[in-house]
Amino acid sequence: MKRFACGDVIPGCNATFTAADEAGIFAQAVPHAAAEHGIDEVTPELEATVRSLISTV
Ligand SMILES: [Zn+2]
Repeated sequence: MKRFACGDVIPGCNATFTAADEAGIFAQAVPHAAAEHGIDEVTPELEATVRSLISTV
């Protein structure tokens, strides 16, 4: 399983996501970022940052 904590990118956010693979993480995190943080576009830089912070659990 993969795990990502939104708070690693957005300080103060308590949302965490778990999924079978990285694609599953993005499928949850992208709508969350748009709805909760007003991030309408996931730039390549942001995607790389998130990818680097995804841990295997
Ligand atoms: Zn968040």
